[in-house]
Amino acid sequence: MGEFSKEISRRILDNKKHKFGYCVICGNHGELSKDHVPPQSLGNVGSVELLTLSEYVSRSNIKPLSGKGGAYHKTICRVCNGDLLSRLDMTLKVMYEETFLALSRYEKNVGIDYVKFNVDPKEFCRCMMGHLTATSPQVYCEKPIPEKEHVSLIRNFILKGGDEIIEDYDFYLWFYPYKNVVAVNNMIGLGTNGVQVTVYLLKFLPFGFAMVSKGSEWLFSRGGKIDFKNNYLRMSLNPRNLYPQGFLNGPGYGLGMALFAENTAGVSRKAKGSL
Ligand SMILES: [Zn+2]
Repeated sequence: MGEFSKEISRRILDNKKHKFGYCVICGNHGELSKDHVPPQSLGNVGSVELLTLSEYVSRSNIKPLSGKGGAYHKTICRVCNGDLLSRLDMTLKVMYEETFLALSRYEKNVGIDYVKFNVDPKEFCRCMMGHLTATSPQVYCEKPIPEKEHVSLIRNFILKGGDEIIEDYDFYLWFYPYKNVVAVNNMIGLGTNGVQVTVYLLKFLPFGFAMVSKGSEWLFSRGGKIDFKNNYLRMSLNPRNLYPQGFLNGPGYGLGMALFAENTAGVSRKAKGSL
């Protein structure tokens, strides 16, 4: 039996290898292109293994979807990838470099405990929501996107920066010094206080990012709320403000229970032996 008895990841089953389909961001039908999450300019270049979040948490012996040249998702059109996200990625690249510069100073005890980025907070959030949407399973490209209210709201935000979204959601940024990439779309969480929240979560070194339904400040006791009125972003590097690695997707961080569709919550990790 050996290898043959191994269960295979849902990620392998969902990897349809379609060349054409409906873009999960703009909805247009056309040739699909690969979106790397995180972008390759942020170091996503080695061999990776992809699992669904529940497979990852169960830690059972499941065969992952393997990828070379970084984790990517072939779910968006060339325009959304090459024009929109490539442009928004420039904000991400600046923040990535400034974070590591600040950390090198921090290690030398210069006394810095946060990093300030002179970027447009909304551009950062649009970029993260764009990449998070792109992590949808490729089966979503087989049919036009259903016009549900929250879907239209998110698409409009990514594509045009529409402000309507801030009536329903808040955005958070925190320091995430871990190697695993976690992406969760549309998770419904129930707080230990009985309050229901909707969470969109994307975490990759060095950023933890979440879009959550308004009024969820009680979940974020260590701060990180983003204000679109500012022309900068701040991220605390102080260990006291560090959220645990499994924050928001693991148990015991304020959410008593969380529900999500298995194929819209994924983890990618470095393959064994890969640097
Ligand atoms: Zn598109």
